[in-house]
Amino acid sequence: MTAPGLRPITRKLLELTGALRRVNRACSTFQTFAEVLRLPKRQMTKLAFPLQELQRHLTPDARLDLHVKIFDPSLEDISKAESVFTATGRNRIEYLSSAVRLDHAPDLAHPEVCFIGRSNVGKSSLIKALFALAPEVEVRVSKKPGHTKKMNFFKVGKYFTLVDMPGYGYRAPEDFVDMVETYLKERRNLMRTFLLVDSVVGIQKTDSIAIGMCEEFSLPYVMVLTKIDKSSKGHLLKQVLQIQKFVDSETQGCFPQLFPVSSVTYSGIHLLRCFIADITGNLKTDGFGQLELNT
Ligand code: GDP
Repeated sequence: MTAPGLRPITRKLLELTGALRRVNRACSTFQTFAEVLRLPKRQMTKLAFPLQELQRHLTPDARLDLHVKIFDPSLEDISKAESVFTATGRNRIEYLSSAVRLDHAPDLAHPEVCFIGRSNVGKSSLIKALFALAPEVEVRVSKKPGHTKKMNFFKVGKYFTLVDMPGYGYRAPEDFVDMVETYLKERRNLMRTFLLVDSVVGIQKTDSIAIGMCEEFSLPYVMVLTKIDKSSKGHLLKQVLQIQKFVDSETQGCFPQLFPVSSVTYSGIHLLRCFIADITGNLKTDGFGQLELNT
C-alpha cells in the first residue's frame, strides 16, 4: 500500500519500484544453496536437480533414457561445493586477463575448465550465475550477440581457473576457430569443456561443429542446456530427450548426463557448481554413481 495523498504518477512509480524489488528478490534468492534447502521438497528438487524433476514426467521406459544419477551428489556435498565459489578474504575470485591467442593466456598450474557456446546461448549469464557469490567479479552480459571476442580467464582462489571462450556463430570473430581450436587442442591443464546448448532451440549446426571439435581432440566435455525457464515442460522434455539420444548415439567424449540450467531461476546452478568443484579435484563427493568419468 502506498501512502494516500501522493500524486498518481508518484504512486505508480513507487508501486513499480516495489514490484521490481520483489522480482529482484525472487530472482536473487536462490543464489545460495541454503535458500534452496529451505524450500518445500518438490521445489527444492526442481531447483537442485532439474533433470530429475523432468524425468518424473516420463513413462518408465523413457525414464531409462535419461542418465540422471550418474553425477548424483548429496545435498551436503552441494552445500560444501558452494565454499569454492564463495569469495572471501582467503578465497579470491577474480578476473585475471583476456587473450586472443593461446600464447597470451596466463600460465597457470591450476586445473582449468572452459565454457564454449554459440553467441547468445547464455554463456555470460551462466558464468555470472556461477559467480553470484563473488559479486565483485565482473562478467559482461551483452545485449549484442558476439561481444566476447577474447578468451577471458577467471581465477577461482587456489581451486581452478574458469575460461569464458568467445561465442561462435553469428558475428564470431574470424580467428575464432584458430583461437578456440588451438586452445582446446593444446591447453595442458584443461580438465573439462562445458559446451552450452540453448534448450529452446536445441543443437544447431554451429553447435555440431564445436561438438565435432571436442570429439576430434578426444576431449572430455559436458553438455549444459541453458535457459530452461523459457520453455514449457513439454518442449523442454522433447529437447532433452532428443539431445540425450544424440549424446548417447553420436558422441564418445561427452559426459552422458546433461546439465539443464537457468541463470534466471538458478535451477541447476548449484549442481553444476558441485560438479565443477568435484572434477577439478576440489571436493571429494560420492556423486559419481554408475559411471566413471573418462578424463
Ligand atoms: P552469451 O552471448 O552466450 O554470453 O549470452 P548472454 O548471457 O548475453 O545471454 C543472451 C540473452 O539470453 C540475454 O538477453 C540474456 O538475458 C538471456 N538469457 C541468458 N540466460 C538466460 C536464462 O537462463 N533464462 C532466460 N530466460 N534468459 C536468459
